[in-house]
Amino acid sequence: MGIVDNYKHIHAGLKEGVKLVAVSKTKPNEDILEAYEAGCRIFGENKVQELTSKYEELPKDIEWHFIGHLQSNKVKYIAPFIGLIHGIDSLKLLKVLNKEGRKNDRIISCLLQFHIAEEQSKFGLDYQEAVDILTSPAFADLQFVEIRGVMGMATYTDDSNQVRKEFQTLKGIFSRLKEAYFQNQSSFAEISMGMSGDYQLAIEEGSTMVRVGSKIFGERQYH
Ligand SMILES: *Cc1c(COP(=O)(O)O)cnc(C)c1O
Repeated sequence: MGIVDNYKHIHAGLKEGVKLVAVSKTKPNEDILEAYEAGCRIFGENKVQELTSKYEELPKDIEWHFIGHLQSNKVKYIAPFIGLIHGIDSLKLLKVLNKEGRKNDRIISCLLQFHIAEEQSKFGLDYQEAVDILTSPAFADLQFVEIRGVMGMATYTDDSNQVRKEFQTLKGIFSRLKEAYFQNQSSFAEISMGMSGDYQLAIEEGSTMVRVGSKIFGERQYH
């Protein structure tokens, strides 16, 4: 199957209300346009430079999501247009985003990334670190960022019980945070979890946003 069929197939199988982020990192514009023609409007990238050139070259009604580890010194390049940043893991980064949001006179939407996998290498906060951010006086001053939910990546494993448990953990974190800090903020509503190998499981466990790359565009070639 090609990109159009892949996209349509995955999109048609989603539970109502679940958003599909087509992860187009490393893929050329022509591939992105194929998915676009099939109806896709949300694309995810994890490199700032690649994202900004694609933003400039491709249709302006695309909503771009940043899904990687964002360095503070690169925020300024994406602040004018980014739709959602999935990987927030520090107050420092939120402060920089707030500054750039102010400059661009727009509120930047963010998700807090949590470490739910067994692997050491994956970025993210634990619950207490998130609480420390959300209750700090500095956070209360940030007028140009909005936390819209949480994001996480499960362990890369065939053990679906393990993966399911990790998704349940993220859902649990979301619910606790919602209850404690976001009861009056209806926009705190997103649970970004699930990739090509585990998005169906993620949806069963409450995902509102899946990030699917290789199942739409084929395997990535790195060189
Ligand atoms: C690359 C990437 C994805 C998509 O991975 P696939 O397995 O190709 O679907 C999703 N989320 C993040 C954070 C990624 O870096």
